[in-house]
Amino acid sequence: MEKGIKNCPNCSGKVALRKIEKKMNFRGEDISFQIEAYVCMECNMEIATINQTSNAQILISDAYRKKVGLLTSSEIREKREKLGLSQKEFAKRAGFGIASLKRWENGIIQTKSMNLALKAAFQDIRVGNNYTGNRALSIPRIKLVMKGLENELGETFLEEGDMMLFDAKYLWYADMMAYHRLGRSLTGATYAALPHGPQLNNYKELVDLIREADETETEPLTFEEKRILVRVALAFPRKQLIIDAAHREQIYLEKKIGEIIPYSDASKLTEIPL
Ligand SMILES: [Zn+2]
Repeated sequence: MEKGIKNCPNCSGKVALRKIEKKMNFRGEDISFQIEAYVCMECNMEIATINQTSNAQILISDAYRKKVGLLTSSEIREKREKLGLSQKEFAKRAGFGIASLKRWENGIIQTKSMNLALKAAFQDIRVGNNYTGNRALSIPRIKLVMKGLENELGETFLEEGDMMLFDAKYLWYADMMAYHRLGRSLTGATYAALPHGPQLNNYKELVDLIREADETETEPLTFEEKRILVRVALAFPRKQLIIDAAHREQIYLEKKIGEIIPYSDASKLTEIPL
């Protein structure tokens, strides 16, 4: 327990512990939060201990994260603890570096991409890593796989205003095939059954991030992974073919709208040679 402060360093007056409402602009967002600090009863000076100061940094970062829709430090910690996992265990299961996880739990703000990856990991671990196919969601890797497929197909993906109707089907088959043959998806993406076929879960949130992602930030595709892309491109050389095929898949048809299609269903694909 940290030693408290008794007297004001300014006027030597008596101080009292108070909760203080703070408002500030942080990274362009107006945020408010409550800190605990000592206040001088005589001159009103605020005096914070070292712990209170470092706590305030987390409070600022969490108020900002709440404002912009990112998981806060305490949310990350609580969700991890709810899974019964230590920082080390969670980082390993989710595919994050332990140092990154510790920083996020201690107030360093995660990027939007990493926030999506964190949310996916929490959901995924609850279902035995069956929503991401044993890989942490990697948006740069989605970009890398799309580029690889573009090369194989001579098609262009991710055009302006694209809702990923075709792109997502190619990704889905590639991820499912990789999981089936190699035990691990290519991208860590989660797929849901939507009216227009299997689709990246939360694709509206993802599409701009994928377009802006730097595919050189991720590990390159292995020889076996590249072969998966070739197989998918050979099975569906034109976009319309993959749309029709995806709609005939029993593992898609049997799902309710919005329901996740788990990777364990990959062995039941019928429209591509397994
Ligand atoms: Zn004072």
